[in-house]
Amino acid sequence: MASATPTSANAPIANAPISTLAPVASVRAPGKTSPRAETLYDKCMALARNLSWTWSPETITLFQDLDPVRWRALDHNPIALLSEFTPEQLHTRAVELVLQSRIHQAYRCLKEYLSTTTPWAKANTGVLGSQPVAYFSLEFGIHESVPIYSGGLGILSGDHIKSASGLGVPMVAVGLFYDQGYFKQHLDMDGYQQEAYFDTKVENLPMEPALGPDGEPVTVEIHTRSGRLLAKVWLMRVGRVKLYLLDCDVEGNNAEDRELTSRLYGGDHRTRIRQELVAGVGGVRALEALGITPGAYHLNEGHLGFATLEVVRQRMQNDGMSFDDALEQVAGQTAFTTHTPVPAGHDRFSGELIEEYLGPLRDELGISFDQLMGLGRVDPHNGQETFCMTVLGLKLSRRANGVSSLHGHVSRRMWTSLWPGRSTEEIPIGHITNGVHVRSWLAWQMQHRYDRHFPANWYDRMGESEVWQCIHDVDPGELWETHHALKNLLLAFVRRCTSRDRRCRGESEEAIEAARHMLDPDILTIGFGRRFATYKRADLILSDPDRFVSMLNDPDRPVQLIFAGKAHPADEPGKQLIKKIANLRHDPRFAGRVAFLEDYDINVARHMIQGVDVWLNNPRRPLEASGTSGQKAVLNVALNLSVLDGWWAEAYDGSNGFSIGKGSHHVDDAITDARDAADLQRVLQEEVIPSYYDRDVDGLPQQWIKRMMNSISSLAWRFSAHRMVADYVRHAYIPASGGLSCDMKSR
Ligand SMILES: *Cc1c(COP(=O)(O)O)cnc(C)c1O
Repeated sequence: MASATPTSANAPIANAPISTLAPVASVRAPGKTSPRAETLYDKCMALARNLSWTWSPETITLFQDLDPVRWRALDHNPIALLSEFTPEQLHTRAVELVLQSRIHQAYRCLKEYLSTTTPWAKANTGVLGSQPVAYFSLEFGIHESVPIYSGGLGILSGDHIKSASGLGVPMVAVGLFYDQGYFKQHLDMDGYQQEAYFDTKVENLPMEPALGPDGEPVTVEIHTRSGRLLAKVWLMRVGRVKLYLLDCDVEGNNAEDRELTSRLYGGDHRTRIRQELVAGVGGVRALEALGITPGAYHLNEGHLGFATLEVVRQRMQNDGMSFDDALEQVAGQTAFTTHTPVPAGHDRFSGELIEEYLGPLRDELGISFDQLMGLGRVDPHNGQETFCMTVLGLKLSRRANGVSSLHGHVSRRMWTSLWPGRSTEEIPIGHITNGVHVRSWLAWQMQHRYDRHFPANWYDRMGESEVWQCIHDVDPGELWETHHALKNLLLAFVRRCTSRDRRCRGESEEAIEAARHMLDPDILTIGFGRRFATYKRADLILSDPDRFVSMLNDPDRPVQLIFAGKAHPADEPGKQLIKKIANLRHDPRFAGRVAFLEDYDINVARHMIQGVDVWLNNPRRPLEASGTSGQKAVLNVALNLSVLDGWWAEAYDGSNGFSIGKGSHHVDDAITDARDAADLQRVLQEEVIPSYYDRDVDGLPQQWIKRMMNSISSLAWRFSAHRMVADYVRHAYIPASGGLSCDMKSR
């Protein structure tokens, strides 16, 4: 496979790192403090200011132990927590709780991590050494306390850069800073979704102004036909990876422009194109101003397509190349990932918007309006076609991929018309299946079980199959007990959240009290957490209400469900679905058996995937490009029950979970829905429920546990973000930066 040349021991990544440790003591309480107290305080702050703490259970429990109540109240934000202490107070507290050595130890680990690279990187990242990969994405889901993501795409970007850090891949990432982020969801008395936006306190985020080589904060400027846009650049440290976030809230912008980057996915087409302009064109300018010259570019979704045009402009200006030559060269350096077969997921802009915002750049590129429009059209000469960002991404990159095997296939079919004369199989779109960052999603309780049976260095080898085969050495009883402990934590979380939400809505004391006792740890628990887009069919399991009622209330083998998810603010049918499910609780036949958790975010998702028995996914095939929540569930021994779509279509082998349907779909949605609903009932009744309740003399469901083990050993390594990033390195980054390796599907 890869024929990468090993990196020399003194590749820049090995030497660069002290700068990835944030400067300490940026927040300092007034008054006199002893140097000893400062050391502890500064070390805690340094830990909080590199987001690698988000995947270090040792550091998380350290913050939590400082003040468990405030930790939860502050949304698990360590900077906010530490800011409530003076260095003296923190010192006293650390001494009381005997935390000093843990603080020193965690700090030493972080420094070590940042000042070394990995054997994997030395052997595999070859030519990337001095020229990092620039990874562009409109959202990054790193932790619930950093609200610059909405859902799956963002979490994937976050997991991507975390694993790039873990593997030691030289990478910088670029995105936008949204000071209000995505909306917070709560339900009103009718069960209808309400959206609220809150200002994020910048001083509580691990960000600092990004400085150029001259030591000055970097600001970029973008000209449009209707004026000039400015953006400042923030630096966030995610392990060894630096994440640069552009922010339009700067003096010099008019009031409207200052709000341009306030909200993620808020606003109309005009807001959208301007955000994409700032992220793409502004992002490339920011890297130049920072003195960073990427060796390869990775555009995570079409939103970032404008970045390539700016790199072309720089090449023309700096190297005197023609537009065509520069385009060819830059496309060769660019990898593009498409994420959805749903048409609404592909941005389209009118010619007027393109000219208004890309006009000045077009002038500098020396191309006509029609030429520019042609880059975003399937048929360049069709004046009726709008400008599609996915088309731009496909035309401006020489390596493109979908995010699962099935999605690769669907994407090739979807874009055949871009390559007239080629058959579907010959369309140059490959696939790299998504994966998840293991240490972010694996419960530490479960991790401790693995630590006892897995090889000592298993964190560094998460992408290897052998490592995960050790799960079969774990005692079934031990695995089951650990799962049960996590399930109990989830149920406690559901009760806590539900009673709090009912209180906030002003519900009766009885309703609040009932929430404190809902759900039962001995009942088979199914989780469904995802965006409430209609194609995901959250209510499929309710298709036959009577059967649903009798399933939930079966005297010997009952079932309970936990739902969560947001609907896009403009998605009325999605909101109706939420209402339907949330209001089931008013029906006594469901009371205590169905929960809806408000405000699905990383924290809610983490509790759910770590605690449920079964993770349900029933989208209308083939609309789920990959899906990653089920991969998170695998790590924590929940079993997937899913339509054979996205990642599950290539993951399910008959013994590592459950499948709904046989991987086919009808042209008529109503027929597909009816068939899938019936098969879902059948699988539940014939496979899932009997297997769960079939216990041995010790009360253990041996067959079920066997399936859990098969799930982990066959899936955890394949669907880890480490494996995913390694694939991108081999098949996209190395070839794109001029190294020798096999292409995914080279054109
Ligand atoms: C993992 C995750 C997602 C994506 O999961 P899907 O399987 O694609 O639905 C979305 N939102 C949150 C909060 C997540 O943690």
